[in-house]
Amino acid sequence: GQEDRCTHLKVLVLGAVGVGKSSIVTQFMSSEYMNTYDVSQDDELEKTIFLLLDGEEYELTLFDYHTLATLTDPEEDSMGSADAYVVVYSMTDRGTFEIAMDILFVLRERGYTATRAVILVGNKSDLVRSRTVSTNEAKTIAISYECNFMETSAAINHKTDDLLVRIVSQVRLKIQQL
Ligand code: GDP
Ligand code: MG
Repeated sequence: GQEDRCTHLKVLVLGAVGVGKSSIVTQFMSSEYMNTYDVSQDDELEKTIFLLLDGEEYELTLFDYHTLATLTDPEEDSMGSADAYVVVYSMTDRGTFEIAMDILFVLRERGYTATRAVILVGNKSDLVRSRTVSTNEAKTIAISYECNFMETSAAINHKTDDLLVRIVSQVRLKIQQL
């Protein structure tokens, strides 16, 4: 039946305060194009969406409130059990890019960049004139940390559907490689 084919994925959305993590997750929830539907309550910290991709059903649970501190806390082992890590920075704020690199460093140290889906996301691409992190610079960092890279705008809903698809396809790719 349908339930048997549903794959459950745990997704951590990481990054500095104000980069747009919650806005990205909110855009995922309303992604009509991707056939998603939200089953979580507004006040819940975890957001769950169902998504149909290439005839396969996925249940994604998204967590967008973790910080670098919880990531490195040895007591917090829920951080290690994710299928995908989405590391967000704002391309208008270099400090948030540096925090994203710190997070990528930790993910690589733990071996997750080799075994899990890790995607570096430069958000706020609509703010063209305020850009302080170039696409090439971020691409170079993504290559050096062996992770995927995308630029999005949660404000104008640009490439957020693509990011959702990328998360699932990267998880599938990693599973095939293992
Ligand atoms: P979080 O702290 O990472 O969860 O960030 P939020 O999702 O709360 O967003 C922080 C602020 O940035 C809010 O005022 C959002 O409206 C704004 N924001 C988020 N994404 C974008 C974007 O792509 N472009 C612009 N211009 N603003 C954004
Ligand atoms: Mg938030």
